[in-house]
Amino acid sequence: MVPPARLTLDGAALVHNWQALRGLGGGAACGAAVKANGYGLGAGRVVERLAYAGCRDFFVATWGEAAALADLVLAHDLSLSVLHGVRERDMSAARDLPARPVLSTPEQVARWRAAGGGACDVMIDTGMNRLGLAAGDLSLLDGLEVETLMSHLACAEEASEMNGCQRNGLAALAGRTGARRMSLANSAGIALGPDYAFDLTRPGLALYGGVPCEGLAPHIRPVAAIEAEVLQRRLVPAGATVGYNATWTASAETPVAVINLGYADGLPRALGPSVSATWEGAPMPVIGRVSMDLIALDASAAPGIGEGEMVRFDIDLPAWAAAAGRSQYELLTGLGQRFERVWRD
Ligand SMILES: *Cc1c(COP(=O)(O)O)cnc(C)c1O
Repeated sequence: MVPPARLTLDGAALVHNWQALRGLGGGAACGAAVKANGYGLGAGRVVERLAYAGCRDFFVATWGEAAALADLVLAHDLSLSVLHGVRERDMSAARDLPARPVLSTPEQVARWRAAGGGACDVMIDTGMNRLGLAAGDLSLLDGLEVETLMSHLACAEEASEMNGCQRNGLAALAGRTGARRMSLANSAGIALGPDYAFDLTRPGLALYGGVPCEGLAPHIRPVAAIEAEVLQRRLVPAGATVGYNATWTASAETPVAVINLGYADGLPRALGPSVSATWEGAPMPVIGRVSMDLIALDASAAPGIGEGEMVRFDIDLPAWAAAAGRSQYELLTGLGQRFERVWRD
């Protein structure tokens, strides 16, 4: 069966983005957050490409995600960290898989120690109050084999005073544990400058073409694009409407192409005519309501388009996020399961 729509993924752009982010981090190593299946693009393919480019440190959220990458980790001798730490029921996976837990509570530290310890990472809370040990609990780590001591920025994409506070909070812990490395910056944190890079950075969004802050815009290339098929082309007479709730009315006779894509594929229902597909270079703005599985495009600039032709959406994450009132993270991770994911290098 031929899948109805394709997500085309640009492996060269992914590698370019990683290299650019690594360059911005000065001498720090540059890792990659590949949780949520590589932000929806396919974690295995992402890890494979970045490993060939020289990336060694990868981050997932769960042990299930770690298990899916275990073969690649072993084959390429990579480092994989599980950000959600270890619950009791994760222990056997944690002992067996080639991945380290990122311990973030005194209970997790005790659990890991009781199971024999071994290499782990530790998350320190420096003010986000999401996951992490308090700096005052550092003595719990005595004798533990801590690979990376890390923290996470709450407001990296804003000019917030909190950034400096969090940075200084982590820097103050240097030398207080046996940790081999320290790590703080996500994508936007890298743009805050070399002071934030420590030994290892952990970008996610920007690898995949997201631009969380202006400073990264010149460095980041889009990675994902959508190709969808025209199911019907129709001529809509002047005065007639298109789609649910008849929100769009033709001011003149208009060729309209209906494509096999909708909000069930993760396209925001709020996308409107500020977003266009293209066919042979001609822009085709979205008109009317986005349906679950269908979108209508104004084909005035592409009057020759017909059934079976493929149109393309270059996913401009910042523009789509602005048009839809959603975050770039939500858009990327929400791209649906009906797409065939095709990597092009
Ligand atoms: C998701 C995540 C990252 C990557 O963040 P981006 O904003 O996508 O670059 C880094 N560190 C931690 C702890 C994360 O959870």
